[in-house]
Amino acid sequence: TKLRVGLLFGGCSGEHEVSITSARAIAKALSSGQNTSKYEILPFYIQKDGHWLAGDTPQQVLASGKPLSLPNSETASSQSLSRWEFPPQVGEVDVWFPILHGPNGEDGTVQGLLTLMQVPFVGSGVLGSALGMDKIAMKMVFAQAGLPQVKYKAVNRSQIWSNPCVFPKLCDDIELTLGYPCFIKPANLGSSVGIAKVRSRQELEAALDNAASYDRRIIVEAAVVARELECAVLGNDQPKASVVGEITYKSEFYDYETKYTEGKADLVIPAAVPNAVTQQIQEMALQAFAAVDAAGLARVDFFYVEATGEVLINEINTLPGFTATSMYPLLWQHSGVSFPELVDQLIQLAVARYSSVE
Ligand code: ADP
Ligand code: MG
Ligand code: MG
Repeated sequence: TKLRVGLLFGGCSGEHEVSITSARAIAKALSSGQNTSKYEILPFYIQKDGHWLAGDTPQQVLASGKPLSLPNSETASSQSLSRWEFPPQVGEVDVWFPILHGPNGEDGTVQGLLTLMQVPFVGSGVLGSALGMDKIAMKMVFAQAGLPQVKYKAVNRSQIWSNPCVFPKLCDDIELTLGYPCFIKPANLGSSVGIAKVRSRQELEAALDNAASYDRRIIVEAAVVARELECAVLGNDQPKASVVGEITYKSEFYDYETKYTEGKADLVIPAAVPNAVTQQIQEMALQAFAAVDAAGLARVDFFYVEATGEVLINEINTLPGFTATSMYPLLWQHSGVSFPELVDQLIQLAVARYSSVE
């Protein structure tokens, strides 16, 4: 009998559309080659308002690649389900494949729900997902693991908004310890949303205020001049690292527009860097994966400061973009694992992890 795969996509985050594109690619891979005889797809679409839909609507969203606009008739009938009720098809799932990016999906929330359901799921559990999402917690764990990273400072919204005496001192301190240019980031987002590179006191103040509108937790980092290299990790307790890829672009940094406008960024696989750098990145990627307790998959991103030869870890992404042109599957393709094989392995890893935890 076929394993019923609950493909969970959409979600309440700015990366809703990317999630649909990733889910389309995964659905296609599940219905190709050997996977057809092993798996049956049960798609679940999480609308932007948080409601779960099963059945025909998710099939249509997958077929069209377009999000469902709110409100519509399906939504109206689904409103009778309160936000924490789920379609009955949830009970038919043998293994979940959540492909949700950003908050409410990549951060441990959905992973907690799936854990409570006592059904295996692809990817990291609650801890790995939460640590991978929060850039402050992530950096603390990386520091503890001895992984080199940029100088940074953790900031709380209260230092920016609540107390008029604290804010100037905070800015003084950032100027003194990190200097310009520096990066201001909401701690719990992705896709470069809310991130700014600042070069003056005025820009710093504005960027802190803006970041505080996205998150209570904010991170400020010294800017480095570096090439951006990425490595894919696959596995549970004995994970493997892929070849290393590079992102190149012409904009000031790898911002939202550069990430999602066709032709603004290029992926170079494998990256043209010395073998020693590749090896160092692969080792660091595996250390980072273990440090946050990731499982199944993760993409680990690095800064390679060519001038000094230094490699710094930037971040880990526990549910990286998974479209046909995304770095994660392409890195594995160049490492000898095709897209359909990758999807198959991830599901098998989910099942194996669940039985070992039980
Ligand atoms: P996200 O999780 O949204 O991808 P990142 O921390 O990866 O956030 O930052 C997005 C991009 O901003 C990076 O890919 C890089 O181009 C740029 N960037 C972030 N931090 C730094 C830094 N400290 N120095 C130089 N560039 C940075
Ligand atoms: Mg990220
Ligand atoms: Mg990033």
